[in-house]
Amino acid sequence: MTLDTPVGNLGFVFKAKKKPLAKIGIITLKDLLYYPPTRYEQYPNKKPIADTIADEDAVVEGKVAKIQNQYAGRKFTLQKATIWDATVEIECVWFNQAYLTRVIHEGDTIRIAGKIKYAGGKKSISVKEYEIISENKKPIHIASIVPVYSETRGLSSKWIRNRIFERLTSDIEFDDIIPAEFLETRKLLPIREALHSIHFPASLDEIDKARFRLSYEEILIKHLISLKIKEEWNKNLTSHKFRVKPFEKDIDKLIASLPFKLTGAQTKAVDSIFQDLEKDKPMNRLLEGDVGSGKTIVAVITAYLTFLNGFQTGIMAPTGILAEQHYKTLTKLFTPLGIKVELFTSNTKKAGEFDIAVGTHALIHKKVNFHKLGLVVIDEQQKFGVEQRAILREKGESPHVLTMTATPIPRTILLTAYGDLEVSLLDEMPMGRKIIKTWLVPNEKRESGYEWIKDKISKGDQVFIVCPFIEPSETITTIKAAKVEFERLKNDVFSNQKLGLLHGKLKSDEKNKVLEDFKNKKFDILVTTPVVEVGIDIPNATIMLIEGAQRFGLAQLHQMRGRVGRGEKESYCLLFSDNLNPLAEKRLKSLEKIFSGPDLAEIDLQLRGPGNIYGTAQHGRLEFKFASIFDKSLISLVRTDAEKLIKELPKHKLLRAEVKSSIIQKVSPD
Ligand code: ADP
Ligand code: MG
Repeated sequence: MTLDTPVGNLGFVFKAKKKPLAKIGIITLKDLLYYPPTRYEQYPNKKPIADTIADEDAVVEGKVAKIQNQYAGRKFTLQKATIWDATVEIECVWFNQAYLTRVIHEGDTIRIAGKIKYAGGKKSISVKEYEIISENKKPIHIASIVPVYSETRGLSSKWIRNRIFERLTSDIEFDDIIPAEFLETRKLLPIREALHSIHFPASLDEIDKARFRLSYEEILIKHLISLKIKEEWNKNLTSHKFRVKPFEKDIDKLIASLPFKLTGAQTKAVDSIFQDLEKDKPMNRLLEGDVGSGKTIVAVITAYLTFLNGFQTGIMAPTGILAEQHYKTLTKLFTPLGIKVELFTSNTKKAGEFDIAVGTHALIHKKVNFHKLGLVVIDEQQKFGVEQRAILREKGESPHVLTMTATPIPRTILLTAYGDLEVSLLDEMPMGRKIIKTWLVPNEKRESGYEWIKDKISKGDQVFIVCPFIEPSETITTIKAAKVEFERLKNDVFSNQKLGLLHGKLKSDEKNKVLEDFKNKKFDILVTTPVVEVGIDIPNATIMLIEGAQRFGLAQLHQMRGRVGRGEKESYCLLFSDNLNPLAEKRLKSLEKIFSGPDLAEIDLQLRGPGNIYGTAQHGRLEFKFASIFDKSLISLVRTDAEKLIKELPKHKLLRAEVKSSIIQKVSPD
């Protein structure tokens, strides 16, 4: 048995739970041992039954004298056990757990944690937790510090705790993945000890030491993965080193023809990209900038240089709407220059010749004629899996890759999780862009909010209303709910206004029609699922109303409100929420005052943890089990070690195998 043994092979108990285990990410023995406690429960010391007092939370231990079920009404049963220690007895009471009479037997020694009750001269304890004690096993469910795990249907914390304990105290052999030299210099606990302490600590101090060790390991592996990917990438020599100098005049001409001046950040990004393109290895650069910071034009300029060098560009967008919007922008700029732009979506049938192909996933799957692909641009990166990126890259001979995202990524995270990419930040907004006035509207002001909107509409403004569904892919239920909300708004609230409905299951020409109609003011209000999140441009829309705002991440809300404020007029964002707790209120209020994406992301990171920044819980690059993304000093310390270790990786077999298998996993769909 090794750490890689699938849990399904660990015996019947595991086999029966294979599915729920997989659901919480436990596939191998290692996943089980590294399953992090979400918190710890602390219990008081055990005391003699005679010493307990009424209303006290106590832990007692005794021999079971009898146990039985008692019916207490149609649907309720009580389980009562009498236990005694020395000469005193106490009655233990459970609710609705009939199976207990099969698990607990007369004569067992049992430890009980619960609240002491005193009535009619009789002591009883209402049981919170119990544990049957055997001579050769120390108590793990009622101890001074007990781990609590994230549960799922069919897997209780107690079950998980039992399995981890059995395995940790069994005789599996495994070696430490961290080289001895580093264990010593960084004063890290050996792995066995660390795992034991994280699950079954004797003191809070032990937890800290264990967590430090496990965080170190986790961050180290992330760093090594990025460094390895970067190393592999750099081995990839490109056959086409681009030339910049001969085309400087053409590039300047294109820039001069734009209706605006590039921002400093845009110019800087273009410079860095051009430097990358002149090298003999493929570029792998992330262009990060808030909604509206002007990423498209940077891609346009890069595509133009690619064309001038005699190569094709493939631009991949996450939705048909966005692909078409890019297509329009590009055609307008490039057709006069004799550059042929083609659009590929799921509806495209023909496959002709082109210089620049814009499209959705269709770019990968259709027979798109990439015979000289030199540049791949991927817009809104978080929507694409690594695999899709890899496939598109394979269509050319190691083309350059420019990935664009509006997802604000705090700097610490960049270094840890995106260390394989070069990064350009567009941290400067084009001139004249206005701040979008934002209010968190309390439920009792909902009606007056609607009235205010009606007034605005009567003056010619247009409104987005986003329904609160955060699933990454729209399901039948979310669309049904959007339809219900649409009907409610149309019939009850905005009966004198014109409403349109947009959702992800519409065919792309239907979507386009809805958007075109909205743009042409055939509707006042567009009710949508969050598909509008990604960049569509409707300058006359000035109000963004978001329902169920508490369910979105701040960065995501910020991206959504960026859909308005594209024109001259003052723009607004109204956040509605039917379920505000103080934390949610505090989060959402920050949108009233803060208008920088990365700052908002940082706040969400602190309040809700990394899994929640981007709306969907899973975001492979940002997932940590033990480490905190805020531990900047640990992150940079590990970085130093990783840079040293990457050079001698072949020497460290375990570490090398771990990095290798993680990279393989990364290439499977996100
Ligand atoms: P995003 O970064 O969200 O993709 P876009 O590239 O769609 O942003 O740009 C948003 C809008 O800003 C577009 O209409 C674009 O033409 C305009 N824009 C881009 N750069 C500038 C600039 N330097 N000055 C003024 N407007 C600009
Ligand atoms: Mg964009």
